Amino acid sequence: MQTAATHTIDGNPVEGVEFFDVINPATASAFARAPDASRAQLDLAVHAARRAFERWRTVSTQDRREILLRFAAAIRAETQSLAQLLTREQGKPLAAAIREIDSTAARIEGLLSFELIPETLRSDARGRVVLDYQPLGVVGAIAPWNSPVLLATQIAAQALVAGNSVILKPSPFTPLATLRLGEIAARTLPRGLVNTLSGGNELGRWMTEHAGIDKIGFVGSVATGKRVLASAAASNLKRVSLELGGNDAAIVLDDADVESIAPRLFWSAFVNSGQRCMAIKRVLVHESLLDRLGATLARLANQAKVGDGFEPGVELGPVQNRPQFERVLGLITDALTRGGRALAGGAALNRPGYFIAPTVITGVAEGTPLVDEEQFGPVLPLLAFAEIEEAVARANATRFGLGASVWSARPERAADIARRLEAGTVWINAHGGSEPEIPFGGCKESGVGRGMGLMGLKSYAEPRILHLP
Ligand code: NAD
Repeated sequence: MQTAATHTIDGNPVEGVEFFDVINPATASAFARAPDASRAQLDLAVHAARRAFERWRTVSTQDRREILLRFAAAIRAETQSLAQLLTREQGKPLAAAIREIDSTAARIEGLLSFELIPETLRSDARGRVVLDYQPLGVVGAIAPWNSPVLLATQIAAQALVAGNSVILKPSPFTPLATLRLGEIAARTLPRGLVNTLSGGNELGRWMTEHAGIDKIGFVGSVATGKRVLASAAASNLKRVSLELGGNDAAIVLDDADVESIAPRLFWSAFVNSGQRCMAIKRVLVHESLLDRLGATLARLANQAKVGDGFEPGVELGPVQNRPQFERVLGLITDALTRGGRALAGGAALNRPGYFIAPTVITGVAEGTPLVDEEQFGPVLPLLAFAEIEEAVARANATRFGLGASVWSARPERAADIARRLEAGTVWINAHGGSEPEIPFGGCKESGVGRGMGLMGLKSYAEPRILHLP
């Protein structure tokens, strides 16, 4: 079993004192061990990050840009090895893992097109008032297991471009590719600027409590996001950005062309085996199209090639971990017990690993956990509606507010409905995808703040008002 993975603290590889197993979800067996950081190791990382911050904040924008572009290039150069690790620990098909690494580098490059330029608020006989942006200091980045490298780097890149230093903590389910990223950072970035520590949920909690950390960038579930916010407030009122879960609705209007939209709709729900914050999590379809859309989505679900991410041609990998596998199966079984009908799938695959057949369920309604909660797995409920008013109300009747979409042959008609949806992002005839230039985040319980774009960068800085003579 591989045990070579190390933390990176102050530019150096640091061995674990304790370790934990890393499971390959395609086999359900452990294939490596990752170091479990101690509190003392976190303290060392915070000190290193603080020293690095004091230097980094004085580096010119141009020099920062060149250094970070070298980091992005080094990530690209290691695409194959990072992607292999990612597939082994996360389960996603190798082609998708390669895309994740490519997007990771692109995220750094894309964010570098923005700059926090001071703004003159007033300039007259009374003097000049300028708004400028100060970096915050040490940023703790806490990431989930669904797109671990991309999401950790997304937080880190915003922090670094804005002049901060970083401590990265991957999910204990997927630590290895991020630890490898830490080695690349140590080779290409100033010492101590990016430190990576793996560990369990405890380590995340220690970070939120740590007085030496000035901001937490968090991507994960709503329940944990609330704990992060409470703990950040109780310690040193550290700043937080929270990118949390969703229960995105897709509304399919009566004029939609079922055959042409179905593949896009299907992949927007099932990409990464449904383990995507902005996946379609429920479809509200006009009752006249329910049967046709159901049959078409079921055909696509039955055709999708499910398997180990290293097998050629595989389109969908396993669910990433056992608790999530059991939770998703529980939601499916519960929906079927309540009168739901599986048009495709409906059970685990009879093989080792956490595989669930892509599942499309109809005959369920609000009040069923599969509809009301975030399933975060390869199962999609289809709900019929009669009136548009009703569809809008049902799409909005949730504590989540991450994404939503409207599907129609008449984009203008769809746009009118899109404007009435309570979500951080609304798409028309598409659903999902994020870019470094476009702010992304959730309303209601799907998050606090927006990541990426200039808006994201500003959230990793403190505004300062200067009254100048
Ligand atoms: P999770 O909340 O269980 O864990 C996320 C991270 O938080 C992990 O690193 C975990 O170790 C850490 N953690 C756990 N308890 C903590 C605590 N008390 N204090 C600090 N850190 C703690 O989430 P998950 O199961 O890894 O990820 C799935 C969730 O992430 C889904 O809800 C998904 O929608 C969401 N997500 C959101 C986005 C977005 O951009 N909005 C993107 C991807 C995933």
